[in-house]
Amino acid sequence: MNFSKMTYEQQQAIGREFLDRFGLHDWRFSMENLRNTRYLQREPSGFLGVCDHTNKVIRIDWRIGRMFRQTMLHEIAHALVGKDGDHGSEWLDKAHEIGCSQRHLLPYGQKILEKLLQETEAGRA
Ligand SMILES: [Zn+2]
Repeated sequence: MNFSKMTYEQQQAIGREFLDRFGLHDWRFSMENLRNTRYLQREPSGFLGVCDHTNKVIRIDWRIGRMFRQTMLHEIAHALVGKDGDHGSEWLDKAHEIGCSQRHLLPYGQKILEKLLQETEAGRA
């Protein structure tokens, strides 16, 4: 499905449906421009999605297109794991459990593996 080609009403309905499916009834879904200066200061390439724990909002960039499903599941995993989860092993397990693809998760899994290796090596030194 190409999210960017849907109507606003369709986008809102699908976003709501995703949140409700995972019990996030008190969360909101919002299509936004995530490449404005506020976000680009934090991440030079911009964001596709943002999980705003403070306001309980999942924000998705309006250019998301076919990457909607994976990005939405990625952010929902953040919402379910909690603010301190970042891209740690708990988040990775949750994202995998709710349907993030292996392709999507590979870079995050590699980072966790690299960190574990560094800790192991530091422990040996
Ligand atoms: Zn993330």
